Amino acid sequence: MNLSEKNIEALREIISGEGLRVAVLSHSNPDGDALGSSIAWKMALRRLGHHVEAIVPNAFPYYLEWIPEVKDVIIYRDEAERAEKILGEADVIFCLDFHTLSRLDSLGDVVAANTSAKRVLVDHHLNPSETFDVMFSYPEASSTSYLVYCLIEQLWGVESITRYQAEALYVGMMTDTGNFSFSTLTPHLFRSVANLAETGIDIPRLYNNVYNSFTEGRARLFGYVINRKMKLLRKGTVAHLSLTEEEMRRFWFQQGDNEGFVNYPLTIKKMRMSAIFTEHHDFIRVSLRSRGRVDVNLFAQRYFGGGGHKNAAGGKSFVSMAETIKHFEKSVEEFAAEGLL
Ligand code: 5GP
Ligand code: MN
Repeated sequence: MNLSEKNIEALREIISGEGLRVAVLSHSNPDGDALGSSIAWKMALRRLGHHVEAIVPNAFPYYLEWIPEVKDVIIYRDEAERAEKILGEADVIFCLDFHTLSRLDSLGDVVAANTSAKRVLVDHHLNPSETFDVMFSYPEASSTSYLVYCLIEQLWGVESITRYQAEALYVGMMTDTGNFSFSTLTPHLFRSVANLAETGIDIPRLYNNVYNSFTEGRARLFGYVINRKMKLLRKGTVAHLSLTEEEMRRFWFQQGDNEGFVNYPLTIKKMRMSAIFTEHHDFIRVSLRSRGRVDVNLFAQRYFGGGGHKNAAGGKSFVSMAETIKHFEKSVEEFAAEGLL
């Protein structure tokens, strides 16, 4: 994908200073794309001689712990003071893989407090809501890692990409596209993957590290959720799943163990939309997926104060599980009555 030359030049100008203090931020509940894009971008900037740290609001799932240099990523919840100092002193703040500061939870206030830093957005979510000095906002891009690849390609050429960077970028591209099976898959994306492969990355190993590294509890929980907690609506075209805290405890739940569950109902023929409700301490996380023209970004915005992409979005609910499910079912009927399902 060809990124705006005007923006590329503006970015070149911003990073042309010497020994800049740079913070690279990504969203809460960091996924493969958040971490992969942040780490690869951090490595690129560090090579220019800048002081770069990557920060995320909270912990990432165990099956991403093998990503190169992921242990250097600062987790705000664990190291608040250090993160606040870095953000307070930063000359440049990069916001990767999110479109609104609210996706940073309380870390968003820390970012807002630094009014002198230059802010650059690199993202593929719809409707970016904040103002940035430079915005690389491309909702048609399949991942932010792909956008970081494009940035590097246009700024310094693909030859500059190291094997570690390639591993980080590949993880993001792979996870955000469901292993290259959905979202916007373009010829250039595959040419990019070919260039990453040139660095010698071991693609089957990267796949196994993410998708074949779960716990026994996760496998058993998955069976339980699909068998016992999947409800179909509207003649089998809409499905929802739910997970309570008690159920998670029963299956020795670890963060990330519900990864991918919400996609599974979409393997059923004629299914158009799927949702999972996951109980947290003080809210219920809503995760939505759809096929084709069904716009779950709109659904998440309207009914769960969230957003995301057309076919993958999320939001939150602050009422009980039973009320959340009732609200979802009612919202589905309203959506369908408008011809949106
Ligand atoms: P997931 O279901 O994997 O957590 O999220 C799917 C997509 O929805 C991601 O692109 C994510 O950024 C977006 N998303 C998830 N939760 C929220 C939310 O609470 N607010 C907004 N605006 N987007 C969300
Ligand atoms: Mn992403």
